[in-house]
Amino acid sequence: MFNDASTEEIELAMNEAWAAFHVYRKLPLAKRAEFMKTIAFELENCGDALIHTAMSETNLPEARLRGERGRTIFQLNSYAVACEKGDWLGASIDTAIADKVPPKPDIRKMLVPLGPVVIFGASNFPFAYSTAGGDTASAFAAGCSVVIKAHPAHIRTSQMVAGAILLAAEKCNMPKGIFAHIHGASFETGKALVTHPHTKAVGFTGSYTGGKQLFDWGNQRKEPIPVFAEMGSINPVFLLPEKLKNAAAEIAQLYAGSITLGVGQFCTNPGLIIGIESEALQIFINELGKTIQKITPAPMLNPGIAGAYVKNKANALLQEDVHLIAASEIVSKENDGLPAIATATGQTFLNNPVLHQEVFGPYSIVIRCKNMAEMIEVAKHLEGQLTATLMATDADITDNDELVESVKNICGRFILNNVPTGVEVCLSMHHGGPFPSCTDSRFTSVGADGIKRFARPIAFQNWSNHLLPDELKNENPLGIWRTVNNELTRSVV
Ligand code: NAP
Repeated sequence: MFNDASTEEIELAMNEAWAAFHVYRKLPLAKRAEFMKTIAFELENCGDALIHTAMSETNLPEARLRGERGRTIFQLNSYAVACEKGDWLGASIDTAIADKVPPKPDIRKMLVPLGPVVIFGASNFPFAYSTAGGDTASAFAAGCSVVIKAHPAHIRTSQMVAGAILLAAEKCNMPKGIFAHIHGASFETGKALVTHPHTKAVGFTGSYTGGKQLFDWGNQRKEPIPVFAEMGSINPVFLLPEKLKNAAAEIAQLYAGSITLGVGQFCTNPGLIIGIESEALQIFINELGKTIQKITPAPMLNPGIAGAYVKNKANALLQEDVHLIAASEIVSKENDGLPAIATATGQTFLNNPVLHQEVFGPYSIVIRCKNMAEMIEVAKHLEGQLTATLMATDADITDNDELVESVKNICGRFILNNVPTGVEVCLSMHHGGPFPSCTDSRFTSVGADGIKRFARPIAFQNWSNHLLPDELKNENPLGIWRTVNNELTRSVV
């Protein structure tokens, strides 16, 4: 229905994005915020038609899609407020000291936008991590123009959302080229966008394979650029002994829900549960198995993802000394994701890297360690993760410092007695983690701190007050928080 963009169309989109960037980056923060809030309004204005289109393309239920659109609108509005408030700029001012030896010059620093950002959305979040999702909102807040590579799994939804953005751009008199929507079923389109000289950063949400490829292309350019790829994760959950003894059955119930939420199609899905051999662990396994058997399978996003789930789950179960504990016993239809739980020993897990890989869907493996020493070894062998969870009493935490420190070292969000599914949109959220969960563990893709990904610092030395940007002028005309001579203040200098 939509043709792949030609080389000429990509060239035009990038040239226009480059020209628009030079106009947009100079607009006041309030104007950027107005644009973002207008996108949010237009997204709401798309009404039921947008929800129905997304339902027809993704198999996601109506309530989930309405909730996700609400989240996307909230992201746009809340990042707009953060954009205008200006804390993310990190403005700092060190005034001159003329009689210092040597004299200290006046130095003032803030963040400025990088340039046109190319964004790739994920199949499993047609709104919140796609065309008008968190990456787009962050890039607009930072002062960048945006070029989207539409995800082929929800192309008509993406087209409608792009229409809402373009309408908002028109209403707010944004420069032509502030936003472009590119179709392309082949990876060549993505490569052309990432390697285009006008592209100055990339935002990606999706698989490890896709994210790493884009990261490599971004780094192999003559002028390397940052590629912020949020990729898959298996989100380990550690069951500590005292907590497990006190609440094995309740934890099993809680996790049966988390493993199968959204047919397991979340990057925060708990794909790995680690406990120590004991009666309590056996109770947990039995209860988890019984509950999983009763969970009704539901359709996955599309036949490709359903097929990949069947293949990857089968491969995990084929590994030596991996045993199926239970699978849903309720009749499933074509393209349904059948919930399943497997188990293996700590040694099997340590020896087999296949078991460390994400199986995208309602599948999790329970690892049975001999003792705490082996649990620590497992924690130390894990790759970087978006999240890690401890199910633990206070005593479990204080008695097992080495485990706690080892787990803290590999994750971006460290959860205690809760589930990893569900990512709150707020300033304190960190949605990112050490590689391979993410290509840059210093940044988040959720929460207004994500704006910082698409900006860089610049220090102005010895500039006259009237020539400085408003953010750094003595009189602080924007009323933003700044660090002046090492003190955080909104006062004038
Ligand atoms: P995907 O297959 O990686 O697709 C994401 C986007 O990247 C698509 O536009 C895709 O283009 C493009 N892409 C993929 N491989 C590429 C390559 N080799 N070269 C160029 N472009 C490429 O991911 P998905 O299936 O949509 O999403 C599921 C995955 O996303 C899961 O692993 C899940 O854990 C992860 N995820 C992560 C997060 C997070 O925040 N970390 C959030 C949600 C999902 P085409 O469509 O043209 O193939």
